[in-house]
Amino acid sequence: MRRKLAAGNWKMHGLAADLPEVDQLAALYPAAPVDIVLCPPAPLIDRMAARVATGVIALGGQTCHPAIKGAHTGDISAQMLADAGARYVILGHSERRADHRETDTIVRAQARAAIEAGLVAIICLGETEAERDAGRTLEVVTAQLAGSLPDRATGDTCVVAYEPVWAIGTGRVPSPDQIAEVHGALRRALTGHLGADTAEAIRLLYGGSVKPDNAAGIFAIPDVDGALVGGASLKAADFAAIIDALAAS
Ligand code: PEP
Repeated sequence: MRRKLAAGNWKMHGLAADLPEVDQLAALYPAAPVDIVLCPPAPLIDRMAARVATGVIALGGQTCHPAIKGAHTGDISAQMLADAGARYVILGHSERRADHRETDTIVRAQARAAIEAGLVAIICLGETEAERDAGRTLEVVTAQLAGSLPDRATGDTCVVAYEPVWAIGTGRVPSPDQIAEVHGALRRALTGHLGADTAEAIRLLYGGSVKPDNAAGIFAIPDVDGALVGGASLKAADFAAIIDALAAS
């Protein structure tokens, strides 16, 4: 049985003044109805860690370098994220793939480093609008999965997030059939790579404009084990509504 997971990606949003949002969220969840993760900008991780000490809300980074340490100015290692209090890290987000040219090969190396550091890797993939229009969605996402998934992927070390690029931050969401088609294809591909037992244990998140008002519909789709949420994770009330919808699904 896969535990449901609501993960919030704060992207490059969040200052000390926003930390009370985390206090509000923590106050709402003295116990965990589902797994809850917040991935703030790296400078906020250890300050957030002090505010979520019960462990109900886990923290995550938004990327990591494939190396443990070294001469990589401006980069952050998985070990540093773990040391700051993170238990997860988002990898291969389409914004990282586009802005920082993170390829599948790099994402796989990052995922290996994350697992080595004891983090859960949330591996993101998804098609662009042009790729969907060209009928290439399943080909694209299964190739990304094959290229990004580390050999040691298990239900405890990896989560896969399907995030159509055209749905991120746009207010547009694929139809339930479109999401179900992709998640079904990803589950079959995972089975091909890892065998049925391991594939069944890996959580598949949907991400892209998940909001309080559409969350319940998305969580009713087969093979959706939770969500990776951007904008709606910044405010405790919005994220809580999504968490509650997931817990009720
Ligand atoms: C994301 O950044 O992963 C995301 C899904 O963003 P949004 O929810 O704002 O579309």
